[in-house]
Amino acid sequence: MKIGDLVVEPVHDGVMKMPATAFQGTTEERWAPHQRFLDDQGRLEFALGGFLVRMAGGRLALVDAGIGARSGEIRSGAGYYQGGELLNSLARLHVRAEDITDVIFTHLHFDHIGWATQDGVMTFPNAAYRCDERDWQHFRDNERVQPILGPIEDRLSMWAANGTLAPGIDAMSAPGHTPGSTILVLSSGTARGMLLGDVVHCPVELLDDEWSGMGDVDPELAKRTRNALARELEGAHVPVAAAHFPGMVFGRLLAASGRRSWVVD
Ligand SMILES: [Zn+2]
Repeated sequence: MKIGDLVVEPVHDGVMKMPATAFQGTTEERWAPHQRFLDDQGRLEFALGGFLVRMAGGRLALVDAGIGARSGEIRSGAGYYQGGELLNSLARLHVRAEDITDVIFTHLHFDHIGWATQDGVMTFPNAAYRCDERDWQHFRDNERVQPILGPIEDRLSMWAANGTLAPGIDAMSAPGHTPGSTILVLSSGTARGMLLGDVVHCPVELLDDEWSGMGDVDPELAKRTRNALARELEGAHVPVAAAHFPGMVFGRLLAASGRRSWVVD
């Protein structure tokens, strides 16, 4: 995906599969009109990984760092997650870990920070690591976050307000999923795009205002944030992608006759 001079590429780390009804409050009937988002066994398939953003002047940002080389079961075997491919995916893009200049976390859930360190050492030794200060305060002692980011706490730089993180990459606060959940606005010239983090896990959440989220720290705030985003996006022709969208491909939210639809770029 090109956004003006910015080039954005998915960096796959693995996959997560789970029953579609893992979305709180959803039923098989509710999913019936949305089968296109499910696999042939009616399961949700979530991508795991991050996005590489190539900026002018050779700066390379990695937005989110996948789940890492780990795997496990979800819901007693009804689903699973499997990571481990992120560095290989970067290599296929001809990028080495030491080439990354900026690592930006949309939020600090463990499936977005997995490759930040290995055995307590920064995987991307030349990168500035950035996260929202509110997320760090919330997650710093978390049993899944502390082992990964705790050893490099002094290397984390934090933002606490909307603003520019790197040339063409701006933070836009989108709280609810986590306290410091952030949408990254990509801009170059008149072109614009967004990386949604986990404000949205599956495009279906942008179609239906009443759809519940997944794993939200503050579900009501997360819903208000999502609905405001959907209203902003509908008909705006802004390409957006999120870390868990199938294939991590960009799409747009269109609105016609009072209904929204999701169209992949
Ligand atoms: Zn996630």
